[in-house]
Amino acid sequence: MFNIAIDGPAGAGKSTIAKDIAKRIGFVYVDTGAMFRSIALYMLNNKVDPNDEAAVSKECPNLDITISYLDGEQQVILNGENVSKLIRTEEVGNTASIVAKYQAVRSKLLELQRALAAKENVIMDGRDIGSFVLPNADLKVYLTASSHERARRRVAQLAENGITADFNEVEADIIKRDEQDMNREIAPLKQADDAVLVDSSDMSVEDVINKIISLYEERK
Ligand code: C5P
Repeated sequence: MFNIAIDGPAGAGKSTIAKDIAKRIGFVYVDTGAMFRSIALYMLNNKVDPNDEAAVSKECPNLDITISYLDGEQQVILNGENVSKLIRTEEVGNTASIVAKYQAVRSKLLELQRALAAKENVIMDGRDIGSFVLPNADLKVYLTASSHERARRRVAQLAENGITADFNEVEADIIKRDEQDMNREIAPLKQADDAVLVDSSDMSVEDVINKIISLYEERK
């Protein structure tokens, strides 16, 4: 198996890039953020306070999360329901960042993530993939961009969907999520020692894709 780990902060373009690379090199794309988001959605739907670690942990045994693929797109199935679209809101993303701090939540997903990487060639994106989930990944990339550039891209993406967002609010949200993900005790977001740093602030999507594919070609 050849495993590629892509880690980095929110809005760095990990999923766009990993999805595209997976298609081009015939790998399976695994979006681990979607798994954390499905747990967040469950807590929101069941009125469990995400800041209450004991309450969130108590619910974890009731969660059955599986991954399937439909036309090559990853689907997350939560207790029998396909929640792939429902997890794409800012509220769910911000709640995911809160519950992702807890050991019970991380343990719940670790085995699923490792099992997927053990059976296929995967390109997996997240926060702790190279540093913790797949320490022996064949290629590790830490993809980042300035918070200013990440906020600019996010505002542009929202505008495409007809939503007007305040730039400063979006940037503040991104900075808050980075802080939360980088400073937690368990599996914080950090660049693995053997990861290649790719700063996409001044790169196009195509440049980033080509750069990562060339790293893959060198190693395969
Ligand atoms: O990448 P995405 O924005 O979908 O992730 C949502 C949240 O899930 C992140 O802010 C992070 O707190 C958490 N996460 C994590 N570990 C991963 C992937 C995501 O803690 N491997």
